[in-house]
This record gives sequence, C-alpha cells and structure tokens, in this order.
Amino acid sequence: MASEAKDKKKAASNGGKSKTKVYQNFIAGKWCDAANGQIVENRNPAMWSDLIGTFPHSPKEDVDRAVKSAQKAFKTWRLVPPPQKAKLFFRLVEILTERKEQHAFDMTREMGKPIFETRGDVQEAIDTAWYASGEGYRMFGKTVPSELNNKFNMTIRMPIGVCGLISPWNFPMAIPSWKIIPALMSGNTVVFKPAEMTPLSAHNLIEAILDAGFPPEIVNIVHGSGKEVGTHIVNHPDIPVISFTGSSAVGKVIGRDASYMLKRVSMELGGKNAQIVMNDADLEHAVDCAIWGGFGTTGQRCTATSRVICEEGIHDAFVDKYIKAAKKLKIGYGNNEGITMGPCVSEGQRKSVMDYVEIGKKEDGATLAYGGKALMKGDHADGWFHEPTIFVDVKPNMRIAQEEIFGPVVSVLKAKNFDDALKISNGIDYGLSSAVFTKNVDQAFRSFRDIEAGITYINAATIGAEAHMPFGGMKATGNGHREGGWEVYEFYSETKACYIDYSGKLQRAQIDD
Ligand code: NAP
Ligand code: MG
Repeated sequence: MASEAKDKKKAASNGGKSKTKVYQNFIAGKWCDAANGQIVENRNPAMWSDLIGTFPHSPKEDVDRAVKSAQKAFKTWRLVPPPQKAKLFFRLVEILTERKEQHAFDMTREMGKPIFETRGDVQEAIDTAWYASGEGYRMFGKTVPSELNNKFNMTIRMPIGVCGLISPWNFPMAIPSWKIIPALMSGNTVVFKPAEMTPLSAHNLIEAILDAGFPPEIVNIVHGSGKEVGTHIVNHPDIPVISFTGSSAVGKVIGRDASYMLKRVSMELGGKNAQIVMNDADLEHAVDCAIWGGFGTTGQRCTATSRVICEEGIHDAFVDKYIKAAKKLKIGYGNNEGITMGPCVSEGQRKSVMDYVEIGKKEDGATLAYGGKALMKGDHADGWFHEPTIFVDVKPNMRIAQEEIFGPVVSVLKAKNFDDALKISNGIDYGLSSAVFTKNVDQAFRSFRDIEAGITYINAATIGAEAHMPFGGMKATGNGHREGGWEVYEFYSETKACYIDYSGKLQRAQIDD
C-alpha cells in the first residue's frame, strides 16, 4: 500500500516495547506529518493498552495548504468526463473488496463494534463507490420546453469547488465514503477531517482511493481536532461546500457559521429513534429488531432504537422477552469469535452512558429493568464496556426518553393505542429514523404519512439504511439535505439553467407582443 512504505516507524508511548506505526496526513499529493509535528494516539476501546498507531494532530496551516492544492486540482478534475471518473470508482470497488477483511479488522480494533458490523461498514463504502461508478454514466440534466419558438432550454449539473468534509467516529469508513465519493464524482475536490477517535479507517479509505488511480491532489486528509481543524475548514473562505455529520450541538454552530458565509452546508445530526410495537405485531421479530436496533454498535448509531413504544396489550410480554434476549448478548472485543456487542468508543462516552443511567434511576417512576452497570472486571477491565440496559415505565417527557444517549440504553414506554404511539414517537426534538411493527396496512401507511422522521421502517429495525437510498432526518436531525442515493448528488452540484435561442432575432420572455 502506498503510504506504508513511507510510514516512519518509531517507538511511542508504549514503553518502547514495539514499534508504533506513525500515520500521516495526505496534503497536496503527498503523505506528510502535521506542520507542528504534533501527534495523537489511536487506541483500542476494548483493550486500552493496545496502541494502534499515532496520527497527526494538525494545526490550521495544514488546512490552508490542503485547500490551496484542492483549488488548483479542481481546475482540471472538473473537466474530466464523468464516465472516465466512473471507471476510477469501479476500480475503488475492487480495491475495497480485496481489502474488506483487513479494513474491518482495523475498524473493530479502533472503534469497538464487532467484526460482522465493521464488514458492513466497509461494504457501505463499496456500495457507495459502486453507485458512483454507475452515476458517472448518468449525471442527468433535464431538457425543458421553452415558452418561445426556436429556443431550447436545458439544465446541466456543475461541480462547485472544494468540499470541506467532517465525519464522526461511529461509521468510520461508511460516513466518510458517503461524503467523499459523491463529492469527487460530481467533479469537486476534497479536504477531509475524520474524527480523531477513528483515524485509521479514514486513512484506509484515502489510501484505497489513491491506489485506485485518482489524481492525488483531488483528495486531502487532514487529521486533527474539531476545534482546530474542523473550525478552520468550516470558516475557510475558499471552501464553498461543507458536509458535516455529528452532534446537533456542534451542528448548530457549524450551520450558523457556514450559513453566514453563504456556504452550501449539509448537516446530519442526532436522533432519538423509536420502535413502535402494536398488539398484533410478531413478538419474536419485534424483539430481535429491538435488540439489533438498541444494542447494535453498542447503541452508538444516530439511528439507534433508544425508545420502544409498546401498545398496552403487548407491553409485558415484550419486556419479558426483551430482557431475556438482552441477557444473551456476548460483550467483548469485537475481533474475537462470538462477540455480539463491543465497548463504548471511549472512556468519556461510557461516562456519559453511566450518567444517563443515574439520571434514569432518579426519574420519578422509571424502573431499571436490566443492566445499568459499567463492566470493569476480568476480560472487560481494560476497555470501556457497559451492560446493555433497559428502563421500563418510562414516561415521554423524561430525560432518558428525550435526550440522545448514544450508548446501550433503551427506554420502554407504554402507549394506549396507535394514535398515542404516534404522538409519543413524534414528541421529541429529533426526526431521523423510526420503525413500526404492525400487520395493519392502514397503520403502516399512516406511519409513512404521520411520523416526523426522514426514515420509517415497517416491520424492520430503526437501523440498517441502504447506501443507495436517501439518508437523513427532519427537525433537529439536520437541515433538510440527504446523503446517499441520487439525492446527495444534488447537494454536491450546482444546477445551471441553459438557454439557446436559434431564432436569430430578439425574443422577450414574459413580455406580451
Ligand atoms: P461531534 O462531537 O459533533 O463530532 C463530529 C465531528 O465533528 C468530529 O470529527 C469532531 O472532531 C468534529 N467537530 C467537533 N467540534 C467541531 C467544531 N466546532 N467545528 C467543526 N468540527 C467539529 O459528534 P460525535 O460525538 O463524534 O458523534 C456522535 C454524534 O453524531 C451523535 O449525535 C450522532 O447522532 C451523530 N451522528 C449522526 C449521523 C447522521 O447521519 N444523522 C450519523 C452518525 C452520527 P473531533 O471529535 O475529532 O475533535
Ligand atoms: Mg480508537
């Protein structure tokens, strides 16, 4: 692999026992250290003593250099015919497919979710590249009739320029791929800052892109903090497009600053997703989906099921089976055989989960029905593990039913009927994903119409979006844009209206003659 040969190896803070791999930024077509020489460690959240490598902790000067190079590269990349770009994306599909197992292993090691999940994360990047390789042969504009004789109207799609892309740690390759791939396919160039918690998967993606034969200057990765690198990207006057995935709190600041500079900005933010279970639902199926939705990725998904709303008649049976199923989860290091739930991504993230469990215990009327403790002994002593946790008797206005926890904590609420369930489901600030378990077709269609969320599943878990479908949410979950599928291409391109008048004389639109 391209950067491996160039990676300098030196002992870092693991007591000099083994060589620590030193990773670099990729700026202006070259692998390089941060301009200030600073580094941060990347560690395994399931075994904190396992040091994966060090990554640059860059200053804003590195962003400036990346932007300059990306601006220059844009001049030629924008003119490469899309079908030629498409062929490079097809090569990217092949490379990522060859490396899928290694990338999944790396991702589990740096982020914690089990290997069967990280394989899916890499697969999402593969599917996104596959979609792009097809999109290169479309990139459709429209032909539109003119109101005048001897005049032809059409729209074309135009690349915009340098895109500033900022991603979180929970989908360390999939989310960067959702941004980088359509941005490049649309003819833009990229300055990308991944989350400092999961830099290796981002590095692996960039390396695969370079090995696929893309012109190196079109993509830059600048590792560093949100505070320094992220803020500088958002406020850089030569970056007209910002795409951010992360928390609503940070999103509000980015939205304010980027909008003030009249940038195009896409924000995919938090969620507080509900699975509704009606009395006629298939109980076993609803339980399986609430386990996957609630505890998959240790609950650290923006689409995680963090509320289950049961109709009264099915509530007790659901809770009973749900707890039994949660007990079967096997918690540990996700690269080990048979593990079904990994750790929280960091000590801070686990602390936040523990705080919410305390909040839940103190909420008047809520009952801790299962779990509730951090796991700190034996095989779990060296990682940030927490038990899957279920609260029952939760009321809609409680904090654990309103705030995003981003950990393995699910609140079960009771609803009197379907209308009540919809009301509870909608009674939150967020609007990302939702699920309804019912055999009633009327309720299924009412769910599509009435649930305030960007995604509604019928008889499937709240998690598991497909890469070729639009992804995003309503209300505090974002600002109306979508990633994925065809819709994201609208975001990464400008529409130009083109008119050709072949009448040879002055024709005046909208003017009566
Ligand atoms: P976060 O704290 O908002 O960070 C996300 C990214 O933004 C990181 O790369 C972070 O850098 C950077 N950042 C932080 N402050 C910044 C600032 N002031 N300016 C520019 N960039 C800044 O979110 P997180 O805790 O990593 O991720 C979890 C959140 O993401 C949850 O709320 C979750 O719901 C949301 N999420 C949403 C979606 C979706 O599509 N809707 C998908 C996944 C996750 P560093 O952390 O490296 O410093
Ligand atoms: Mg890590």
